[in-house]
Amino acid sequence: MNALKTTSNGSLDPTPNANHPTLEMLAAIGTGPIVVFGAHPDDGVLGVGGFAAQVVRWRRTVFVTATRGERGGDPRVRTAEDQEAARVLGVELIQWDLPDCGIVLQEAFDWISATLQSLHPSIGFVHWPEDSHQDHRMMSEAARSACRQVPTLLYYEGPTSEDFKPLLEIDISAFWQQKHSALMSYSSEMERGRFMVWADDKARQRSWPRHKGGYCETFGVHHVDLIALSTALAGHRATNKVTVFATA
Ligand SMILES: [Zn+2]
Repeated sequence: MNALKTTSNGSLDPTPNANHPTLEMLAAIGTGPIVVFGAHPDDGVLGVGGFAAQVVRWRRTVFVTATRGERGGDPRVRTAEDQEAARVLGVELIQWDLPDCGIVLQEAFDWISATLQSLHPSIGFVHWPEDSHQDHRMMSEAARSACRQVPTLLYYEGPTSEDFKPLLEIDISAFWQQKHSALMSYSSEMERGRFMVWADDKARQRSWPRHKGGYCETFGVHHVDLIALSTALAGHRATNKVTVFATA
């Protein structure tokens, strides 16, 4: 956090607002980074890319990709694409090398726990628990146990999520192009999965009815520290673009 501004003789800087904390400074008080856990290259960007593109401006944001996606293509290519997407979003990226389509619960738990000890995040994101992909389910279940001490754990949505129930809605319209560009980094998957169609359709669907014509990401909630969340969302809060659903 910046020190109070003073003039050359040591008195407080008389410039208006010189000593008023900015939203960025407030967001940095006593809070840790945001960490996004995903099983494969692309998962975290699909689920949280728009939110991350915005919040990274004032909060350290780290994406963790558990596998190199070798069952879906050349792992060197997919790893490089993941790095490019992280660069587009401006987030940090940690890449593990767990087996694609073979993530084991205990191993995922151990890796997630080690990462938490290193990063001390205040907010974690992981796959929604109900999912037709076994790696997504394993990562979600492992994070649910490992993140007990993390103040907030949110679930993100993906193309293989099942019965997703959003509790938190965030307008990402201003960051959709950046998310779109990040997703375009996964060119080897474009030919295979055409997931851009899903991402575009879902973000538009989630914008209804509060942000018609825009783009939204929605998240499920395992547990939430409202102070940690509100500081991380300081920019959104200032523009009143966060909706929390009362249903559970
Ligand atoms: Zn995946």
